[in-house]
Amino acid sequence: MNAIAKLILKARKIVFKFGSNTLTGGDGRINSTLLAEFAEQADAFLKQGKQIVIVSSGAQVAGLSAMDRWDRKRDIHYRQALCAVGQVKLMNAWEKAFTPQGIHIAQILLTRDDFTDNTRTLNMRNTLFTLVDEGIVPIINENDSVSVEEIKIGDNDTLAAQSAILWSADLLVLFSDIDGLYDKNPRNHADAQLTEEVRDITAARRSATGETAGGEADGGAGEFGTGGIITKLDAAERVVSYGIPMILAHGGRKRALESLADGTGQGTAFLA
Ligand code: ADP
Repeated sequence: MNAIAKLILKARKIVFKFGSNTLTGGDGRINSTLLAEFAEQADAFLKQGKQIVIVSSGAQVAGLSAMDRWDRKRDIHYRQALCAVGQVKLMNAWEKAFTPQGIHIAQILLTRDDFTDNTRTLNMRNTLFTLVDEGIVPIINENDSVSVEEIKIGDNDTLAAQSAILWSADLLVLFSDIDGLYDKNPRNHADAQLTEEVRDITAARRSATGETAGGEADGGAGEFGTGGIITKLDAAERVVSYGIPMILAHGGRKRALESLADGTGQGTAFLA
């Protein structure tokens, strides 16, 4: 059994994060087939006694597909309004995916302040525990409609890591549009090799981001992704420091979750 399959087998409480490029098939619309397939696999996990929290990006993309006439508006108010529209679409898509399994979902929208204020943190933790104990799948996103730049968490890799720590998860799985961490950016280097296990994040970061002495890096995000590989490495560092391992894998692969669990899928395990 490989490291990833072992991590999944052992974990009872798992946070899954979906990046926006993963949730949308290249056409900028939510990929409802992918969501439905994930919900089926998640249901099998729940039946095995595992617990699940989802961190889902994609509000802005979903908003854009609904309000395409706002396509070129870069103004912050429009972008926040877009997220407000898109968040409804996003949650509708998740609800549609989980309904056939008879599973309820719940929406939790957070800002950076929620993680710095002790009372809010405690409330959030209690809410998460209550939802999950009742068999409901919480779906977390940043509350982009109220978060201006200065108070933003900024990217959902960080939000996912913070949520995993807050909920005392056993494992964080980042589903991205890439099969895992490569030794260099696979979009620019055809000979890039997938790293299966990472124990030393500092060393992995240096090589993966092509960081030079001047600090220039090569770890960019996709059109709708805000993080790129750097925020994924930051997330790994954060959770691993709390003893929580992380897996980075491609969420768009067929039966992605099942194949990671049975050892046939590819990915990178960041070991705690
Ligand atoms: P998401 O929307 O899932 O958060 P991002 O687009 O933000 O995804 O980040 C993933 C992207 O990071 C990959 O598609 C890839 O182009 C880029 N990337 C840069 N360097 C690397 C690397 N060393 N290994 C893997 N991906 C990398």
